[in-house]
Amino acid sequence: MNPSFKIAIIPGDGIGKEVIPEGLRVLDAAAKRFDIRLEYKHIAWASCDYYAQTGKMMPDDWKQQLQGCDAIYFGAVGWPATVPDHVSLWGSLLKFRREFDQYVNLRPVRLFEGVPCPLANRKPGDIDFYVVRENTEGEYTAIGGIMYEGTERELVLQQSAFSRRGTDRILKYAFELAQSRTRRRLTVATKSNGIAISMPWWDSRADNMAKSYPDVAVDKQHIDILAARFVLQPDRFDVVVASNLFGDILSDLGPACTGTMGLAPSANLNPERIFPSLFEPVHGSAPDIYGKNIANPIAMIWSGALMLDFLGQRAAHDAILDAIKQVLADGPRTPDLGGNARTADIGIAIAAAVAG
Ligand code: ATP
Ligand code: MG
Repeated sequence: MNPSFKIAIIPGDGIGKEVIPEGLRVLDAAAKRFDIRLEYKHIAWASCDYYAQTGKMMPDDWKQQLQGCDAIYFGAVGWPATVPDHVSLWGSLLKFRREFDQYVNLRPVRLFEGVPCPLANRKPGDIDFYVVRENTEGEYTAIGGIMYEGTERELVLQQSAFSRRGTDRILKYAFELAQSRTRRRLTVATKSNGIAISMPWWDSRADNMAKSYPDVAVDKQHIDILAARFVLQPDRFDVVVASNLFGDILSDLGPACTGTMGLAPSANLNPERIFPSLFEPVHGSAPDIYGKNIANPIAMIWSGALMLDFLGQRAAHDAILDAIKQVLADGPRTPDLGGNARTADIGIAIAAAVAG
């Protein structure tokens, strides 16, 4: 029997609505070529349009509505002109991440032929690594408060929370990813010289985990110099693992080093597959370019390839990546890459390359 998957399609807001159709065009081409059955469930909620009609981002039974879905293919959320970002984000995407326990945020960072690199003297092949960000705890908590508010003594405390389970599981994922690659290098982001309790402890969990992966070369680096090395020596990285805050910063810095935000994909994974994982571009809804049909759909399309890979369809993933490479090297380009093609032109070209 052919492999068969049910995918929830959530375009969301702004250019999410423009890049999703191109992502689907390419997924359809891959499904046809590799005999994969994809069933789509199209969802209009998790958007600011839905909020305008109902006063909330998602229906109360959102989990039931997603039951039976193997993955979520997500455009972008946010329309700050009508809904504050913290409302739209906390009401949708962050609910998925937390309630579906998508504790791995995975972002490939790769430089392709034909893409102008903001770093001097870098060629394709020099930059090819993954950022693995812890996605559920760490520095992003709401534990704390303000004391003596409004007085000279005003004092704000906000705590971080690192559980052994939460830390070990992200480290394990990163070690395994590093082990599956040819270079087998893992860089652990830390700041144990400045953050005196949680970061030395984070390092000790990494040391402990390293014992089970003797074939992986581990390298702990303080976040400040690590960020500088993303720019100065990106070729030294293979897999980088970081806490929620450090990973958040690195996973925007990484893609920025390889050209446009319009290329960067991401996966929010529940590796145990108890809940559906979510695949989305790194960029947001980009209100400034919405409606012009000039958004680059490659981040969305690459996110679809990550989804197929996670669903066990490695050949389909590889075919989409090859097609992206080919179109970036000699196909049409959207304005962010200096061309004048429309969003759909890119989707059509990549789908044609996937079809072979
Ligand atoms: P968020 O708050 O989630 O970061 P945003 O809408 O504020 O979202 P982004 O969507 O990340 O910001 O975009 C930042 C800028 O990068 C946009 O204003 C847009 O000009 C550009 N950009 C983002 N995505 C694309 C894309 N797919 N194609 C072309 N340009 C893009
Ligand atoms: Mg923004």
